[in-house]
Amino acid sequence: MKEITVPEKVNTVLDTLQDAGFEASIVGGCVRDSLLGRTPDDWDITTSALPAQVKALFRRTVDTGIRHGTVTVLLGRDAFEVTTYRIDGAYEDGRHPTNVTFTASLSEDLKRRDFTVNAMAWDRKKGLTDLFDGVGDLERGVIRAVGDPVLRFGEDALRMMRAVRFAAQLGWTIDPGTAAAITQLAPSLAQTSGERVHAELSKLLMSAHPEEMRTLYATGITAVILPEFDACMRTPQHNPHHRYNVGEHIIHSLQAVRAETVLRWTMLFHDLGKAVCRTTDADGVDHFYGHAAHSAEMAADIMKRLRFDNATAQKVETLVRYHGLEMEATPYGVRKGIVTVGEDLFPLLLEVKEADGAAQSEYRAAEKKARTEVWAKIYAQILAEGNCLTLKDLAVTGRDLEEAGMKPGREMGELLREMLQEVLKNPVNNTKPWLLEHFKYKMRKNG
Ligand code: ATP
Ligand code: MG
Repeated sequence: MKEITVPEKVNTVLDTLQDAGFEASIVGGCVRDSLLGRTPDDWDITTSALPAQVKALFRRTVDTGIRHGTVTVLLGRDAFEVTTYRIDGAYEDGRHPTNVTFTASLSEDLKRRDFTVNAMAWDRKKGLTDLFDGVGDLERGVIRAVGDPVLRFGEDALRMMRAVRFAAQLGWTIDPGTAAAITQLAPSLAQTSGERVHAELSKLLMSAHPEEMRTLYATGITAVILPEFDACMRTPQHNPHHRYNVGEHIIHSLQAVRAETVLRWTMLFHDLGKAVCRTTDADGVDHFYGHAAHSAEMAADIMKRLRFDNATAQKVETLVRYHGLEMEATPYGVRKGIVTVGEDLFPLLLEVKEADGAAQSEYRAAEKKARTEVWAKIYAQILAEGNCLTLKDLAVTGRDLEEAGMKPGREMGELLREMLQEVLKNPVNNTKPWLLEHFKYKMRKNG
């Protein structure tokens, strides 16, 4: 286990509070991560001082969550959250404790925290305070609730998702008693807000172990927050291209794709429609005609439920819709693909297709992989050549057509799109003289 060293400014905050006669230590995730030899994202401080007393000791502070006892202390360009020891009341809306009581006891504050490895405090005078054998669980790699798991998950259902998320981030297991309580209380997650579910699921998907989706399924969590995924876990794929059921294919595709938000959510959603679209032919082979469009509709619904921002939802929906887009392995084929999904999303589509293929069967695997590589090569070439891909890159504009005697309107729009189609086939033809000459007859017809 690693020694704890904290940034100088953190010690400054602790010393200032202690010199004024209060208790103060670092607590929670930063203690856990330090002991694991990982660099913490932020340093949370817990203290016996009341918020007003904290504010009086530092020149620059922000009232981050005064009601919950949190004051942010600013030192130079760094910010530290300082929170008064507290006892949490019930989580009425499953979001914030409805009432918190400040306390002078560090052990009371540690008791309210979710897991043993998140309930340790440290300062350089007293060293480590570890009341629930957090160190033992950290050495064993175990997520264990502080106190009675049934009571703790009853207070805040989101903690069940946090348990699985930490297991995924750390590559750990969940203590059997804690896991049993999750299985028992998973249905109560139905009351938890979409935002909070979104944040936890996102962290799990982005972790080193997105296959922990299996634990969400096995404990009955996805049955509540993502029943569409459960349907996939029950949908077989009797088809030479596949070796897994739909849900397992999704999980393998998550593991095959880079840890990037849009990509991971796209893989989670890309085949959801298969559970609805499955047909079996006379030879016993399963087909999933139209599943991509169906998956896109389902993804849009789910993302609304989980309160996604519009920009992310738009990207994910588009990639899900076109994940199976057939493209010829020619420059024209790839240019058409780029126009279909958009220039910004096209490189992501290639990553989606690669991960999708990697999670299928050995059948024609080499062929599929080779095709993805050819697409990528052609795409690089198209970028290097700076081919015209949109109307705004076309050498002819609406104004040019007007000057040539055409009236603005529907036909003009159609002609511009026809010119774009020509240029997608033959980029060298993207010059004003060539296009005006070649499509002259169409302009005359209209003029
Ligand atoms: P990370 O920030 O890396 O996700 P963390 O452990 O710092 O992990 P936070 O959500 O930042 O997690 O919370 C800080 C600390 O507050 C936790 O370590 C835990 O002690 C406590 N905590 C957070 N959320 C809850 C909760 N829902 N129930 C009980 N305690 C919680
Ligand atoms: Mg944190």
